[in-house]
Amino acid sequence: MEAGVFFAGRYDEARARFLAAAAAAGAAIETHPHPLRGPAGERLACDVARLGPPRASRALVTISATHGVEGHCGSGAQVATLREGLLRDMPPDTCAVAIHAINPHGFAWSRRVTEDNVDLNRNFVDHAQPYPSNPGYEELRAAICPPTRDAPALAAAQRRLDAYAAQHGPMALQQAISGGQYVDPQGVFFGGHAPTWSNRVLRRIFAGLAGHASDIAVIDYHTGLGPYGHGELIMSSKANPDGWRRACDWMGKDEVTSPDLGNSSSAPLVGVNAQGMREAASGARMTTVALEFGVRPLSETLDALRADAWLHAHAEMDSPEWAATKARMRHVFYGDEPRWKEMIVARGFDVTRRMLAGLAAA
Ligand SMILES: [Zn+2]
Repeated sequence: MEAGVFFAGRYDEARARFLAAAAAAGAAIETHPHPLRGPAGERLACDVARLGPPRASRALVTISATHGVEGHCGSGAQVATLREGLLRDMPPDTCAVAIHAINPHGFAWSRRVTEDNVDLNRNFVDHAQPYPSNPGYEELRAAICPPTRDAPALAAAQRRLDAYAAQHGPMALQQAISGGQYVDPQGVFFGGHAPTWSNRVLRRIFAGLAGHASDIAVIDYHTGLGPYGHGELIMSSKANPDGWRRACDWMGKDEVTSPDLGNSSSAPLVGVNAQGMREAASGARMTTVALEFGVRPLSETLDALRADAWLHAHAEMDSPEWAATKARMRHVFYGDEPRWKEMIVARGFDVTRRMLAGLAAA
């Protein structure tokens, strides 16, 4: 089947496709309604489809839209997996859990963040403790998110960022911008000052799994880093060393990258969702990978994110900037082309099969 049929250009269409595919596959559906609406007044929810024995000791979990707008990709991969029967002949004592749109607000509003401008994948810190610091972000804050976005202000900001990269290296600049920060609620990659809605829902889902599953493998779909259509498997080698060893065994040692080892397209991050999953499913062996697909060059992607943060802090929905910035966000996080979608589906199937084989051998 042509890969394009699995993907949707809007959240509500993606949701309808997912629910139809899950129903056709005979999945049980559980819905977590979100309290807010989408830009066209559409209802928002995180939907969870479950296949296989409900009390299985092994679980394969997939997640889409951790970063809202990146859900065009993850949703398409989830729908393809359901429609093409990948979860039909599961190994014994194994269930599949597809979490669709864990951040439905960001998906519907073409944002990477949640309704409160929080990067869900930086939100899983202990909010009772002092927050991790990001000195690079603090130093560059006015250049990363300039208060005005006229041409001279943007050019001055760019000179500042270029100078930082020339002095400290491009990965240091990437970490300053994207590593996570807890000082600027209107800025980019803000980790939040409390667990956000999507954080609480994700913990609830994993706490439910902990009741029966002793081995949990997770594929968390992302976009925005790395070469076009390439699916990089990313996990921290430091935070979960046993999980790292399993992922390398299952996927092949050269297939998994770690920001801690400096061989990933991602900078080292704080407060990632894998931390929250491990806490909620305590006792289970967790093998959690982010499957990250490239779309456009990194600088273009970061520029779109900076514009989107400014938009939500300073502009109205009927302003001329609004539609243009939203189109830009979709363009950098969703490769709306047949070749890209084929690459996503092929890689998603490949990783799904190897995760299932790894779980079966665990
Ligand atoms: Zn992401």
